[in-house]
Amino acid sequence: PTNANEEEGKKKKKKKEALMIQPLTSFTHLHKLSPRLHRNIRAQGYRVPTEVQMGAMPVISRGENLICCAPTGSGKTVAFMVPVLDWILAQGKGDEGGGEGKRKKVRVVVVAPTKELASQIVNEGKKLALGTGVRVALLKKGGEGVKSEVVVSTPAVLLHSLEASTSCSPSPGEGDEMEEKKTDWSSVSRLILDEADILLDPLFRAQTLGIWTQLQSPHLRTSLFSATISSSTETLCQQHIPPSSSPTIRLIVG
Ligand code: ADP
Ligand code: MG
Repeated sequence: PTNANEEEGKKKKKKKEALMIQPLTSFTHLHKLSPRLHRNIRAQGYRVPTEVQMGAMPVISRGENLICCAPTGSGKTVAFMVPVLDWILAQGKGDEGGGEGKRKKVRVVVVAPTKELASQIVNEGKKLALGTGVRVALLKKGGEGVKSEVVVSTPAVLLHSLEASTSCSPSPGEGDEMEEKKTDWSSVSRLILDEADILLDPLFRAQTLGIWTQLQSPHLRTSLFSATISSSTETLCQQHIPPSSSPTIRLIVG
């Protein structure tokens, strides 16, 4: 029994170590860090990652779920945008990685409560993705057939598009044209909820949970970012991140 206990202890220790994530103290320690992404980060004047970036970037890079609580102005946009761009580039899905001419698939979805916030995220994302071949786009009402790896949207517009993409097929003949207009959401494996507490408050909750359910796949990893994380948000996370998914890391800054 002593041996068995020892074995058990070792296993537990290993598991704990696997869950310990070192903070990413420099942007140069990113997984792939294409020279262009690095240049764009520097061009923005970002020399050292902020505290929330040091904590959140390695979690997203490792493909784990994240609940991150950090004050306004602490740099949450870069904390998710840089590691998702790095992840896409590491997969060689940008033009830089030899993917030129290939049809783009939506891999990352960022949801923000207002169009203004969504536009700000797109602006930041575009600056960071400049010249990498990775496209970052704002999802527009009725603007279907999106071919960008990173899509940013408000809940209502995104839910509408998701529902349109799964609605029944049109009659033969119209098919191809209709398919062209639809957005293919089936390759999404990263979902970012920015201002998560607002997205999960009663006003937006039904829409946000609708999106979360529709994007659900064994590969989906979710990151929540907010200045506050309420207990009801925690509960909703436990309900919507399947036990089979990677661990959920909680990060509280400030
Ligand atoms: P939050 O979403 O946490 O409220 P933002 O993402 O809007 O914060 O970022 C706040 C400001 O900090 C922005 O002007 C952004 O350009 C700046 N910023 C982000 N990361 C860094 C960094 N590593 N170094 C310097 N400034 C940064
Ligand atoms: Mg923000």
